[in-house]
Amino acid sequence: HAKALGRSGYCFFEASMAEDAQNQLKLLQDLRLALSREELALYYQPKVETASRAVIGVEALVRWNHPERGLLTPDLFIPLAEKTGLIFQIGSWVLNEACRQMSLWRAAGHTGWTISVNLSAMQFNHPALIQMVRETLEAHALSPYCLMLEITETTAMHNADNSLAILQQLSDMGVRISIDDFGTGYSSLLYLKRLPASELKIDRGFVQDLATNSDDAAIIASIVALGRTLNLKVVAEGVETPEQQDYLAQLGCNSLQGYLLGRPLPGEEFLASVSPSLSA
Ligand code: C2E
Ligand code: MG
Ligand code: MG
Ligand code: MG
Repeated sequence: HAKALGRSGYCFFEASMAEDAQNQLKLLQDLRLALSREELALYYQPKVETASRAVIGVEALVRWNHPERGLLTPDLFIPLAEKTGLIFQIGSWVLNEACRQMSLWRAAGHTGWTISVNLSAMQFNHPALIQMVRETLEAHALSPYCLMLEITETTAMHNADNSLAILQQLSDMGVRISIDDFGTGYSSLLYLKRLPASELKIDRGFVQDLATNSDDAAIIASIVALGRTLNLKVVAEGVETPEQQDYLAQLGCNSLQGYLLGRPLPGEEFLASVSPSLSA
């Protein structure tokens, strides 16, 4: 195979690897400056109650307005931020900004909403997490009950006893916990039973082919049953079509998220999008 590529093929391969490394290095240099240049932004996506279609929560999703490359989604820079430890600064900024926005929405009368913030594995395991969360809530005079922290099932499962201890402290404080991308990890029932969470968020992968794949429907039905047993709300993410929405309603999902219900939008546009009558 290597022979077939020939000499120039091999050189091209090396050159593109070097180019990749250079691009990553440049991106890292830019990312180090992104905070001070105020290039990070939060986009907000509604979480809607299935039965009433009312907004019950909002998920904050980070974006990077790169000066040359435009708006970047987290998959393009969060892994890099994790590798280099920049995630802690970025994560503090995200939590602070989400709480700031939430306190404005509360002041505008949206007192029933929760704000969901994603935590990566490194943030979740940082020894100062609890203190950081407490201080940020206090800085914005926000009740802990307004905040929901999302960690993936995989993060929650890794080093399970340690995770349980952290989750217990957050939960004791009043902060709510959502287990994101649920169904992609390997939680044991015993572990889930002890988990002080209030929400399971079904991974988008199970929602995608729901209408055509009976396995996915069966899996969702069993997650819903599990949620009922353990007294956890079940939310589906990635809902794009009315068919998916109807299926998920039939299957008993408490709430829904996805482009059908609302795309992630900047804070200023979010309110108008969820309450068009107010902005008319
Ligand atoms: P996630 O928390 O599972 O977020 C859901 C992702 O699905 C988001 O992508 C969202 O924009 C996208 N999405 C929502 N509805 C739909 C839909 O109907 N169809 C499709 N195809 N996609 C939909 P995004 O914003 O690119 O975020 C990707 C991941 O990056 C998130 O997955 C989360 O794990 C992570 N992330 C986002 N914001 C933050 C943050 O502030 N901090 C950390 N540590 N991670 C973050
Ligand atoms: Mg999430
Ligand atoms: Mg998810
Ligand atoms: Mg995800």
